[in-house]
Amino acid sequence: MAAPRTLIAGNWKMNGLNAALAEVTALRDGLSAPNCDILLCPPATLIAAMAEVAGPIMVGGQDCHAAASGAHTGDIAAEMIADAGGAAVIVGHSERRTDHAETDAQVKAKAEAAHRAGLIAIVCVGETEAERDAGRALDVVLGQTAASMPDGATAENTVIAYEPVWAIGTGRTPTLDDIAEMHDALRAKTAELTGSDAMRLLYGGSMKPGNAAEILAIETVNGGLVGGASLKAADFGAIIAAA
Ligand code: PEP
Repeated sequence: MAAPRTLIAGNWKMNGLNAALAEVTALRDGLSAPNCDILLCPPATLIAAMAEVAGPIMVGGQDCHAAASGAHTGDIAAEMIADAGGAAVIVGHSERRTDHAETDAQVKAKAEAAHRAGLIAIVCVGETEAERDAGRALDVVLGQTAASMPDGATAENTVIAYEPVWAIGTGRTPTLDDIAEMHDALRAKTAELTGSDAMRLLYGGSMKPGNAAEILAIETVNGGLVGGASLKAADFGAIIAAA
């Protein structure tokens, strides 16, 4: 199998006003023939404006509702993200699973809504620290992957992001061996679930310029989902350069 094309995705979370688009133009202007796909997921308020200036950088949402429209105050539909110029949407981020009690079934439904809107679904999975300490990380993550995988998932329309909850925003990361072990297991699980061994598997959790190259060098890591270090063009650009 040819290696899937690397994807470096940034998640701005609830950060960024219009002035922050200067980081995107700086990133865009600094790109020289990147060896990977690049995606930035700003708050919904910035998707359209970011898409206007992003050039070769794809823009995406951080969440979507499972329905196409309706009485869901404060929510955003996948079609709205596509209509604003988005190409992808993150679903099942651990902050959504925790803060909004999102279940695997809801994450799966959101990913299916993303596909109906023509968006790539980036499905996040990951264990808590207690689950890892109890030796349950593989079971938890593979279980989430199976239960969150949208019907009709292909290597083109779906990406899995492995994000250990305890590594997000903490500056801590698993060992390279632990990442490789999880990604090898995810490669087998996604192949079993979808019939394709080409689905992109991203690592996320405190990825930064100083550790990106060694994490991205792991054979079954096909890119990164980057939070804090995606906010500044210099940091995100350095991660892209490491890919
Ligand atoms: C994330 O929230 O998806 C993430 C990986 O955050 P950070 O890079 O800041 O750990």
